[in-house]
Amino acid sequence: MHAINCIGILTSGGDAPGMNAAIRAVTRTALYNGFGVKGIYHGYRGLINNEVETLTTDSVSNIIQRGGTILKTARSKEFETSEGRKTAFDNIQAHGIDALVVIGGDGSLAGARVLAAEYDFPIVGLPGTIDNDLSGTDTTIGYDTALNTITWAVDKIRDTAMSHERLFFIEVMGRNAGFLALNGAVATGAEAAIIPEIATEVDQLAELIQSGFRKSKNSSIVLVAESEVTGGAMGLAERVKREYPEYEVRVTILGHIQRGGSPTAADRILATRMGEAAVNALIEGQRNVMVGIQDDRLVYVPFSKAIRDDKPINRDLLQTIKMLSV
Ligand code: ATP
Repeated sequence: MHAINCIGILTSGGDAPGMNAAIRAVTRTALYNGFGVKGIYHGYRGLINNEVETLTTDSVSNIIQRGGTILKTARSKEFETSEGRKTAFDNIQAHGIDALVVIGGDGSLAGARVLAAEYDFPIVGLPGTIDNDLSGTDTTIGYDTALNTITWAVDKIRDTAMSHERLFFIEVMGRNAGFLALNGAVATGAEAAIIPEIATEVDQLAELIQSGFRKSKNSSIVLVAESEVTGGAMGLAERVKREYPEYEVRVTILGHIQRGGSPTAADRILATRMGEAAVNALIEGQRNVMVGIQDDRLVYVPFSKAIRDDKPINRDLLQTIKMLSV
């Protein structure tokens, strides 16, 4: 491996609050260590379209508090082809980039893994996704902010749910992961969380209704993880209307509000620590790893492990939620 002189950085997939704090930390740690830094706009699509600019310390001023990503993000079908990746790699070389930091979710890190393997090129990943669905890390950049946004939004919905004595299904993001729904339910005192991790084992809705979860209450809030497996909030509401017409049901889909906003202190600190660690990883000769955090310690997780679809979720919390909604 030849020496690293210039580090490229990109954000890819869904944006997440804290990505800017990570961009800032990577850029400034790299500059501090004497490297050049190139920002690639629009993720892998921008790598293919040659949207590359030099970043200076001023480029990342005043962004630590901003949601979204100053480098923009995108999804790219072309990058999933070997021709697309060839163009991307030609551009990497043309710009003198010797190593890449990729900030994104499991898809983005899967892409990084393929590129790194095809061209024997050093890449370090940072887990940037509100879904918290990357393995080998306790949490991901953006998750805490999204969880707080969900808590804020559900608190407001609770006011109207209480006043009208209604059953609310509130759908939250997470793709195929229930972390936001489960922990959002705990944080808001919801009556239940319906999550994909256990959807194939039990009929969560039937269990919920049969346990008479609404008997002593004048309103109920159920958080539902978006997923084909759970049926989403709409699917569940339709089922309740059909099977239990005595309930007055409403649906709220929180949607993209969950991605936005200023990152929480926890996400800014996490992104800053991880951004610094990404550059240190490259200096140490690490490659093809994601920076993760376990018990407050930064760790390197091989891409192959990080993108595995088996991150454990704390199922005990389902029982906690059930018990506390007596
Ligand atoms: P989020 O979890 O927030 O949606 P993500 O990073 O998982 O973010 P994806 O849309 O899954 O978002 O992936 C982003 C991009 O990564 C894709 O548009 C594609 O360009 C690239 N990518 C994903 N999987 C692969 C793969 N197996 N091979 C090559 N590239 C991939």
